[in-house]
Amino acid sequence: MIRSKFVKTCYFSDKHYNKNLLETIRGVTLNNESSLRVASMNQTHSDTVLKIKNEGNYQSDGILTTEKNLALVVKTADCMPVLIRDLNSIAAVHIGWRGLTNNIFHKTLELLQETELQVSIGPHARSCCYEVKEDVAVLLPDLIETKDKKMYLNQAKSIENFCNENKIKIDVSDICTICDDNFFSFRENNTQERQISFIWK
Ligand SMILES: [Zn+2]
Repeated sequence: MIRSKFVKTCYFSDKHYNKNLLETIRGVTLNNESSLRVASMNQTHSDTVLKIKNEGNYQSDGILTTEKNLALVVKTADCMPVLIRDLNSIAAVHIGWRGLTNNIFHKTLELLQETELQVSIGPHARSCCYEVKEDVAVLLPDLIETKDKKMYLNQAKSIENFCNENKIKIDVSDICTICDDNFFSFRENNTQERQISFIWK
């Protein structure tokens, strides 16, 4: 498990983790209270963010809560797991290139307070490897890096810039899921497996 550098209670897995979510999260949080619950999502690259109070599997790409002992889980294998907290709330968001075009990050921020806002982005496909074609490049021209006439997407760049400009603390993992063998990558081999990332309060 990788811990966020400074955002409290944020963790990102590599591909070697116990697939029993509750056991894994209990192990990391050292929270053996029977009150610990888990909320996850059936992610579809939508811009839907839900405010929740209970465990379950939600039809959304973002979930947000003020509840204690409710771990919010996002599953990824090249997209970005984005974990956010403010003074009272926590949020977990799934963002890939479609999420960058539908502004789900900013839709999530609108539901949060500015007080003590912090963002942590876990391992994802980085611009060393994430080659895209013209169809994606035209939608996100500011995030494209060109090498040897090929185009690569820097997924975290716009969120990182926004946070730096607005003095929001942000921590971005430098791990690339495509070239690091300790991570599942859909690009690499169409895997159905996913890393898990979670936050709780
Ligand atoms: Zn790479």
